[in-house]
Amino acid sequence: MSHFSVPSYEYCPNCGAKTRSKLMDEHAVKVCAADCGFAHFNNPTPVVAVIVETPEGVVLAHNVGWPGGIFSIITGYVDPYELPEQTAIRETKEELGLSAYDATFVGHYMFGPKNQLIIAYAVKAHGPIKMNHELDEYKVIPVHKLKGWKTATGEAVTDWVNTLGALMPKPNE
Ligand SMILES: [Zn+2]
Repeated sequence: MSHFSVPSYEYCPNCGAKTRSKLMDEHAVKVCAADCGFAHFNNPTPVVAVIVETPEGVVLAHNVGWPGGIFSIITGYVDPYELPEQTAIRETKEELGLSAYDATFVGHYMFGPKNQLIIAYAVKAHGPIKMNHELDEYKVIPVHKLKGWKTATGEAVTDWVNTLGALMPKPNE
């Protein structure tokens, strides 16, 4: 059962005819009403989220379009024919100006409101932070103070922090 709304293609991008909704495997699909073959399956969009770990801590950034006070790990769309590991490295360079290496897979998360499949990585990075036009503020949180939050990217942070915690020696061991 799909939790997401019917795709918004009102007209067929192939032939310009109206589209109609159709249920396929319990998912709402838009198909061309003139039967030219177009179908929009509303597949999730892959988006890479990156936990950027610098020697000082993890970088959280504020997007120019967000309300004030909200910070998150950086995210970016996967380019055509790009592997998500490469997206993680590229986005870290583009958005923060940092050279990243060691992209480690953290997990997959669903961001329902935008039907995005979040593919989360952690990278190590160094260098002076230089934000691009998408960001207007950042903060660096020491790893031992980092906590996740209740969205897809926040869940990735929580999982990553928990994995690090599991790797640390217990005080009584
Ligand atoms: Zn059509």
